[in-house]
Amino acid sequence: MTPSKMQLNRRNLLALGGAAAATLAAGSLANPAAARAPLLGVSLAKHWRYKLGAFEITTIMDSEAFIDGPYPIIGKNAEEADVRALMRTNLVPETRYQPGFSPTVINTGKHLVLFDTGNGATGFVPRPNGGWLVDQLGPAGFKSEDIDVVVLSHGHPDHVAGIMENGKPLCPNARYVICGAEYDYWAPANKHTGELESLAAVFRANALPVAEKFTMIKPGDDVVPGIRSLAAHGHTPGHLAFVIESEGKQMLFWGDCAHHHVASLARPDWHCVFDIDKEQAVATRKTIYEMAATERWPVIGYHMPFPSIGYVERRPTGGYRWVEHSFQLYP
Ligand SMILES: [Zn+2]
Repeated sequence: MTPSKMQLNRRNLLALGGAAAATLAAGSLANPAAARAPLLGVSLAKHWRYKLGAFEITTIMDSEAFIDGPYPIIGKNAEEADVRALMRTNLVPETRYQPGFSPTVINTGKHLVLFDTGNGATGFVPRPNGGWLVDQLGPAGFKSEDIDVVVLSHGHPDHVAGIMENGKPLCPNARYVICGAEYDYWAPANKHTGELESLAAVFRANALPVAEKFTMIKPGDDVVPGIRSLAAHGHTPGHLAFVIESEGKQMLFWGDCAHHHVASLARPDWHCVFDIDKEQAVATRKTIYEMAATERWPVIGYHMPFPSIGYVERRPTGGYRWVEHSFQLYP
């Protein structure tokens, strides 16, 4: 149960115990006018906007779902007790967490670029618990028809299932950019079976209707001026990260180089069940985290807790730590 859904009912009252319950029952519940103010539930902003040089960076919440984990999603090759102990040390729950699902809009002044399209109707967290991007673009200040480039970090459903909405492209005037190896992995029919085929089916349902608008790139290619791709393979065969640069300032969009802000960073060697090539993903995490820590880049981490912007600190005892953004990217 989320706090927002928590209601003051008889069972809660009993749990409160004798005197307190009796006071509440006799007072605010029996006579609602006596309540000082209604409880409002948890409230989280659904978009955050930052500046990087002349660029504006907006992360948008596509879901606020809690999921079970991090073990065994992360740490299948470790002991569950070790994963739990790391959570305890870092003051986060041991068996549930709230990953970000954070499509990101970058306004370069010349281009309006959307990174990943969220869960849509058929993603990892389908509606009503995910797939919020379509309804959050407007409140964040954007019209979907103004987006001229959609960048796909990779082909998993929580990144591509928002391409199509009710049979039409969410961004009707956009072209799509993806690593060629990634497109070739997911797009062909009859290539996969089982779970992989169910993922591929979501990719095909979203990508094939706009296939003629795709541009295939390779690591090192520019998407638009100021946005350059970077190899981050392993999670999927053509998974890409992106270096964003404006007026000499740089930041990184790392897609799915981390799935839990504590576990992935502290133990990049712990396998993630979603990684297609587990060992390549380990090597990529180490490379990307080391780069982010050395360059002191701000990072947009799609699955970091919303608003999904932070920094990477190298820990003296090994591994890394996610340091949430505070105010570094405000003017
Ligand atoms: Zn993902």
